[in-house]
Amino acid sequence: MKKAVFPGSFDPITNGHVDIINRALPLFDEIVIAIGINADKKYMFSLEERTEFIKKTFTNEAKISISTYQGLTVDYCKSIHADFILRGLRNPADFEFEKAIAIANRKLSGIETVFLLTSAETSYISSSIVRDIIRNSGDASILVPKSVLE
Ligand code: ADP
Repeated sequence: MKKAVFPGSFDPITNGHVDIINRALPLFDEIVIAIGINADKKYMFSLEERTEFIKKTFTNEAKISISTYQGLTVDYCKSIHADFILRGLRNPADFEFEKAIAIANRKLSGIETVFLLTSAETSYISSSIVRDIIRNSGDASILVPKSVLE
């Protein structure tokens, strides 16, 4: 049973996240979308809102579940018996950042991080761009799933 955790802030979930999740579905038996709770971070959307956006986006997908966690991602993975972490890569900055974390995580726990390269259509999308657009009353409809717009 191949179980992966897709950890992130999802503030909010974007079409970039959705693309990575959909493309990872054939690779795993189960994907847990896990919203990491960081007390030091300020979020635009509450944990309940972020969870709801994700739930509504993947209502009919049996392989996907949604959860929240605190602390180290690898400890969370172990607690639910997931052997893989799923992450997306958009650019060299993502790569540099993710590389150190993935190596540290593997050394700490043996858990492998599986990276999927962003799609050409969604490579420019980030939650921070979406938040900027929403904050300034712009139209984010091509960047996020319907659940976020509602
Ligand atoms: P974090 O705060 O952990 O970076 P995010 O919600 O910003 O959380 O991102 C979660 C994961 O989704 C990260 O691996 C990130 O690289 C990936 N991701 C975000 N946007 C895109 C995109 N447009 N294309 C591919 N991967 C993406």
